[in-house]
Formats: sequence, C-alpha cells, structure tokens
Amino acid sequence: MTVSRNPPPESYSSVPILKSRIAPLRPEIVGKAVSQGMLTYKFRLCPTNQQERLFDRTIETCRRLYNSMLSERIDKPVGYFEQQKHLVELKKDNKYLREVHSQILQDVVLRVDKAFQRYFKGISNHPRFKRTGRYNSFTYPQYGKSFKLDECHIKLGRIGRVKVILHREIVGEAKTATIIKDIDQWYVALTVRDSPTARKTTSTGNAVGIDLGVSSVIALSDGTTVANPRFTEEAGSRIRSAQKKLSRTQVGSHRRRKAQIALARAWRKVRRQRDDFAHKLSNQLARNNSLIVFEDLPVTRMVHNHSLASAIMDSAWGKLRQMTAYKAERRGGRTILVNPSGTSQKCSGCGREIPKDLGERTHRCHFCGLVLNRDVNAARNILAVGLVQALAETEPLLVHRTRISKFSRGSEKPLALC
Ligand SMILES: [Zn+2]
Repeated sequence: MTVSRNPPPESYSSVPILKSRIAPLRPEIVGKAVSQGMLTYKFRLCPTNQQERLFDRTIETCRRLYNSMLSERIDKPVGYFEQQKHLVELKKDNKYLREVHSQILQDVVLRVDKAFQRYFKGISNHPRFKRTGRYNSFTYPQYGKSFKLDECHIKLGRIGRVKVILHREIVGEAKTATIIKDIDQWYVALTVRDSPTARKTTSTGNAVGIDLGVSSVIALSDGTTVANPRFTEEAGSRIRSAQKKLSRTQVGSHRRRKAQIALARAWRKVRRQRDDFAHKLSNQLARNNSLIVFEDLPVTRMVHNHSLASAIMDSAWGKLRQMTAYKAERRGGRTILVNPSGTSQKCSGCGREIPKDLGERTHRCHFCGLVLNRDVNAARNILAVGLVQALAETEPLLVHRTRISKFSRGSEKPLALC
C-alpha cells in the first residue's frame, strides 16, 4: 500500500472499518487524576542586547553554583536544607552570586537535589557536572515575588522588563518562570496550574487502536495510515554541509563558534518539525477519540538500533504517545498501553494466526478471506486487547509520571503546551 507523504489531516480516509463504543469514564475518577496537572506555556522573549548579556551572565553564575553544589554533595553527605544554608554563606564573599536574584540561586540548589532524587529512584544516571553550553536555563520560582507579567512584558527580578510575545492566552495563574536559551533565541516557560474549567471535554465515545510503524508512522484501527515524515533525511544535506564547515575551522576561533551555531540551528529545525508533527497528530487523535490504545513498545531500546533509529526519532513515537496521553486526559479521555505481542500475526477478522515476515505489507487471511494493510490489521488487534483491558482496569491513567520534589512528593513534571 502506498501512502502519500505528509497528507494534511483532512485527507485522512475516514471509512470506519471497526467502530467500538465505550462507556464514558466516571467523571470523578478523571477529575481527580487530572486536576493536579501543571501546564507549561512557552513564549518567545525579545531581550535587548544588555538584557541578553545579563541572561548569559546569570546562566553562567548558576552553572558554576550548580557544579559547586554537586561537588559538595559528592564530597560529603549534605542535604537540600544544609545546602540552602550554605548558599547564604557563599553569597557573603561572592559578588557574582549577589548579582543574581536570590530565588534563582535557591532554585539551582533545588535542581541539584532533584537530580539526586531522580538518581536514587533509578530514573536517571548520576548527576553530572555541567560544562559551558550544557546549562541553558534558570528559574524564577514565585510569581509576584521574583517575576510579574503584564500585557507584553515580563518583569524579571534583577534583570528588568523584557519584551515577551504572548501568542496565546494563559488560562490560570502563572506559578514559575524559566528563562531558556535555545542557541540564539530566548524563551520563557511559564508553568500554570491547570484549571479544570479550562478543559474542553469532548466525549465522542470512539475508541481507536494504534500501530506504530516505520514506513507509516501510525496505522489506525479505522484504516487510516499516516506517512512517516522523513525530516532528518530532508535536512540531511543542510546538516552535512554545516558539519563540514565546522570541521574545517580552527578550535577556539570565532568562525568555529559561528559554524557551531549554524549546525545547532540546522538540528533545531528538525527538532521543531518533529514537535510540530507530533502536536498536530496527537491533537487530532485526542479530539476524535475517547479511548486510545497504543502498543507498549520499548522506544528507547529500539532507538539504539541504528538502522531504525533516525526513522523512529522522526516519527517520534515516544513523544506522540506522551502528547496524546495528556491531550486525551485533558479532554476527559483515556490512553492505555497494551502488550503488542502477537498483534501483527493474528487475523483481526477471525482471530487465527497468520504467520508473515517483516517484508509482507498485506495481511491475507485464507480462513476468513480478510485482506488488509498489515499495520491496520495490527491496529485492530491492539484495539481489541485495549478494549478488554479498559474494562478490567479501574485505574484511569496508565501513563504514569514519577514525581520528584524536595519533599519527595507532589510537584509533578509539567506538561508542555505549545
Ligand atoms: Zn481471518
């Protein structure tokens, strides 16, 4: 089966092959699970040259503080509160620390603590020292005290009023502001407690199974397939020439710095294309369905397989799953993961095993006569498993986030909203 590259959302075939209806979830379960969510709004900043220099200086001071707090933790058994006290001492004889807003520095100590907690819980590796360029943000943790918003400016403590492009309305009250450097651009990420009233609830009652693939990113149980955007392939020549230019420059030269920026920008474009694609697709899935069933594939392990890696990164499976989950939750829907074993071999019409190798793109059942796109057949099986699982489970959310905070509870990871 051939599918067009990047078909616009409207052109997806909408012939329902299998339509299942599920009972809507009990609102109290959905409400409880989602009401504590945090959302992140990201806006572009337009700092003046002087403000940009201040941003850079703040980042550098924070990076040094981070490294010194990290080395202190490695040397002796100190905790979060001892380090906060130690910070007060440090500030007495360090003029660079005194130049930065006190709450930003306190947040650096918190970051070190969170990094260790993630390590102790087995979520991430041991915290590492940050070299220049590896530390690119700082956080104002308290609205009103350290930062404030007005029509088109954000007032930042010790930096001043910075122009911000508020391209969308913020619903709810901003809690924290993180200033982020993205190569040559600046952004502010505002976390907002998600208000239940702001949520759109569209209970369509539809259920859909999704098969993640490489030749097509996804195949839906209703017969829709979406082509894989090959962003890395398209950007290939641009990235290769930027890489070549970089390798011809001398270490430490001004030209090298410029070439590094050009290369980073070429990669940034690919990253943004991937994000944009995942946002649009997940939005469509969450809008049209109340129950969305994904395969529980170990995405990170498959990315290590080089022949598949860039195709998988382009289709951004993990991202798509995560985005679909939070968008569905916000609409009162539900995303679940099921064990994918056997879903591609089984016939979705009669349930018999039809063995086929990877190259075979069409499912042909000689028992019941069903002829179907291989991935669509798998998606229909995934939906069937998901529907059984959905009835058996009382837990509303199956995409869990691990919470890390200085008190080891609360403070969930904010979800990105673009
Ligand atoms: Zn069959």
